[in-house]
Amino acid sequence: MGEFELIERYFAAIGPSRSDVILGVGDDAALLSVPAGYELAACTDTLVAGRHFPLEFDAADIGWRSLAVNLSDLAAMGAQPAWALLSLTLPNVDEDWLESFATGFSALALSAGIRLVGGDTTRGPLTITVQAMGTVPAGTALRRSGAALGDLVYVTGWPGDASAGLALIEGRLAGQGANRSALETQFRRPEARWEFGGRLRGIASACIDISDGLAQDLGQITESSRVGAVIRAAELPLSRALYALLGEGRAREAALGGGDDYELLFTVPPSARTELLRILASGRAPACHCIGEITKGRGVRVIAESGEIKVPRGWNHFLE
Ligand code: ADP
Ligand code: MG
Repeated sequence: MGEFELIERYFAAIGPSRSDVILGVGDDAALLSVPAGYELAACTDTLVAGRHFPLEFDAADIGWRSLAVNLSDLAAMGAQPAWALLSLTLPNVDEDWLESFATGFSALALSAGIRLVGGDTTRGPLTITVQAMGTVPAGTALRRSGAALGDLVYVTGWPGDASAGLALIEGRLAGQGANRSALETQFRRPEARWEFGGRLRGIASACIDISDGLAQDLGQITESSRVGAVIRAAELPLSRALYALLGEGRAREAALGGGDDYELLFTVPPSARTELLRILASGRAPACHCIGEITKGRGVRVIAESGEIKVPRGWNHFLE
């Protein structure tokens, strides 16, 4: 199968059709229309086989993840997903693999309302680069730099689950049954909180998505905002599956230091707390917990019942 046939068959019509796509797949570049009064949010992320996912990883999961990690960046800006570009480097043309990859990518594109408008296809070691673009009302995007003294720190979902899921997939951890599959799913199919991210505009003072581990990513907010932060270890949300697999101590370490969560970590001024609680009570929000607050000074401290604990750095550190 030639390159053009491949693109036509698998990638010409992914995601919903959108009236703001003036020209999609097929020409030298896509033409997109950003509505007046909006800004374009653009981000890109590359997944390299054997580095960002195991070599034998399911193609549909690769398709889903390659888009999800980008949607998560848009979510962290409070942007509404609109368009994506896909650069695919393939060792060979395997039609079953392509079909499966496109199915995973497409499932998430449809639910997020994002249209694939172009890309590039080349031969080489399996590598997937997705660029996602979205729109945000001018001047309202969530940044890392807005956290202020006294703001509350919140996190969505169940941090640590995805890194434990990856460890299970790679055989570095042993586990079976429902707990295993719940944790694996968090790695295979991260949800990306774009809907919730959009609703945080005007409420969150700073926001980031967790890709490198909660503590380290909160460090990005404190660095950009020139403040400090304290996390209360006892308030960290631990999923039942993570707790059952690792026990409390190691589960907390996974929640603080494990990566690949693609959850949102954000700060909220006390004056906006009631509005946040109203959204959380609406039934259309993910699980979300207050885990600490913004302080004077610099850096992130974690306080447990026994006193201050060392912040684990980097993803999967907890297994070393
Ligand atoms: P060019 O030679 O101008 O780079 P290509 O032959 O690479 O053009 O691509 C032809 C068309 O197909 C372009 O519109 C491009 O955006 C699109 N395209 C190529 N690869 C992909 C892909 N993997 N997914 C979606 N669109 C693609
Ligand atoms: Mg090209």
